[in-house]
Amino acid sequence: MIHENGKVVDIAIIGAGPGGMACAIEAKLAGIENIVVIDKAPHHNDMIHKFYKKGKRVDKDWMGRKAEFEGNVSFEECSKEEYIEQMDEKLKEAGVLDKFEYNHEIIRVEKGEDGLFSIVFANDAVAEAVESIKARNVILSVGRMGKPNKPRYKFPKELKDVLNFNLSKVQNGEHVMVVGGGDTAGEYAYGLVEMEGMEDCVVTLNYRQAEIKRMNPINTEMTLKYLDNGKLCNKLGVDVESVEPSPAGKIQVNFTDGSTAEYDRAVYALGGTTPKDILVNSGVKTGEWDVPVYDESTFETNVEGLYTIGDVVTDQGSIALAFNHASDAVKNISKNLK
Ligand SMILES: Cc1cc2nc3c(=O)[nH]c(=O)nc-3n(C[C@H](O)[C@H](O)[C@H](O)COP(=O)(O)OP(=O)(O)OC[C@H]3O[C@@H](n4cnc5c(N)ncnc54)[C@H](O)[C@@H]3O)c2cc1C
Repeated sequence: MIHENGKVVDIAIIGAGPGGMACAIEAKLAGIENIVVIDKAPHHNDMIHKFYKKGKRVDKDWMGRKAEFEGNVSFEECSKEEYIEQMDEKLKEAGVLDKFEYNHEIIRVEKGEDGLFSIVFANDAVAEAVESIKARNVILSVGRMGKPNKPRYKFPKELKDVLNFNLSKVQNGEHVMVVGGGDTAGEYAYGLVEMEGMEDCVVTLNYRQAEIKRMNPINTEMTLKYLDNGKLCNKLGVDVESVEPSPAGKIQVNFTDGSTAEYDRAVYALGGTTPKDILVNSGVKTGEWDVPVYDESTFETNVEGLYTIGDVVTDQGSIALAFNHASDAVKNISKNLK
C-alpha cells in the first residue's frame, strides 16, 4: 500500500532503476529520510531484469563511454544476477527498502499553487485509494525502455507475438533474426549463440550498416568472432523493407536488396525513446529528439523542483551515468531543502 494519504515527502522518486535507486541511497546519506520511490514494476531494476539476458556481464564502461563513479553509489562488474544482488545489499545497507512502492504507474506529476507536486497514477483504483501523495521535489528516472524503438515499417498483427524487443520469449530451435548495430544487438545475438539451453537456435544479425562501429570493444570482438566462424549468420549491410506472415506461418522478411528470408522470431534492439508524454504532461519543456530541457549540473528541469536523470536525458546512458546524475540531483535538492 502506498504511503498515507496526504503525506508530504521531501522527494518523490519515480522509477526504481539504477537512477532512482541511487537517488534513494544518496538521499539517505544526505540525511533526507522523508522520501518515496515509486515504480510500475514489482521490483527495483526491472529494465535489467527484463532486457539483460541471463548471465549477462554488466560492464562499467558501456556504449564506448568510460565511466567513473562520482557519487556514493557504485558497482563491481559482474553478472546481471550478481548486480541485482549487489543492489539489494546496497539498498538494505542504506536502510531504504521500505521507501519503495511497487506496481504503481505514474502518468504525470502536477505542481500546485502551494508549490507541492501531486503524483498522478495511471490506475484509477490507486488514484481513488490514495487521495494524494505530495512532494516538495520530484525526480523522474523512468528510463527509455518503456517504449523501445520500433522500425519504421508496420508489424502485421498476426506476427505481434514473434516480433519482440528482448530475448525472453525465444525458444530453443528457433531461427531468430536480431536487428540492430549497438551493444544490445551484439549481446543479444552472440549471447543467444552461447546461451545454455538454446544450442539449436539459428541466429542471424541484421544491421543496415555493413560494419560494426557502435559496439564497445568486447562486444565488437565477440560479434565479429561469431560472424567470422559462421555461428552467427551475417545479414549486415542491408535494411529490412517489410515483414509479413509467410505461407508457413513464420515471419517473411523482405530486405531492401530484394532478398527475402524466413524466421521464427525477430528481436529488435534499436534502443528506446524518451517517455515524452510523462515529461510534457508534467510541464517539462523538451527540445530536439524529445530530450528534456534541464540544467546539466543539477538535472533540474524548467519546472522548479522537478528533476530528470538517467537514460531519460541521454541516448547513450549507462548505470554509472545514472548513479552520477542521481548524486548531482540529490546534492542540489539537499542544498535547497536547508
Ligand atoms: C540490453 C541492455 C544491456 C545493457 N548493458 C549495460 C551494461 O553492461 N552496463 C551499463 O552501464 N549499462 C548497460 N545498459 C544501459 C543501462 O541499463 C541503462 O543506462 C540504465 O538502466 C539506466 O537507468 P535508469 O534508472 O535511467 O532507467 P531504467 O533502468 O530504464 O529504469 C527506469 C525505471 O522506471 C520505471 N518506470 C518507467 N516508467 C514508469 C512510470 N510511468 N511509472 C512508474 N515507473 C516507471 C521502470 O519500471 C524502471 O524500473 C544496458 C541496456 C540494455 C537495454
